[in-house]
Amino acid sequence: MKEHSKNIGIKIKLPQKKCEDNNCPFHGSLKCRGKIFTGVVISTKMQKTLTIEFERRAYLPKYERYEKKRTRIKAHNPDCVNAKDGDMVKISECRPLSKTKNFVVIEILGKEKGFEERIEALEEGKTRKAEKEDLKEEDASSKSEGN
Ligand SMILES: [Zn+2]
Repeated sequence: MKEHSKNIGIKIKLPQKKCEDNNCPFHGSLKCRGKIFTGVVISTKMQKTLTIEFERRAYLPKYERYEKKRTRIKAHNPDCVNAKDGDMVKISECRPLSKTKNFVVIEILGKEKGFEERIEALEEGKTRKAEKEDLKEEDASSKSEGN
């Protein structure tokens, strides 16, 4: 069997599809080196770029405990990988592709559990806020009418 995805030296599942992207580690000339992280895709609004987020622990010497911190990283999303919102992905460091982008998505590990629920809860909170603001406006208008 002929392999049409290049081996990038990391043990991962190679993408099934092929793409024309030059900035693809499997079909282009992009080389992967450096750090590898796994995280959840939280935004795919940009073209061929996505944002991933993951939690890490930072040690606080004063309290001798760990604090939870979140890291957000922008990564290139080649056509053959095509990660979507809520996917758990593995990203690898590469050369800087733009001012804020020096990572590339190399593997989709699956969907994160509870991601959709989290987004729904967020949006529900937003609509509730908007409703409250509407009520406030109504109050203000009724008051001005009274005066
Ligand atoms: Zn590709």
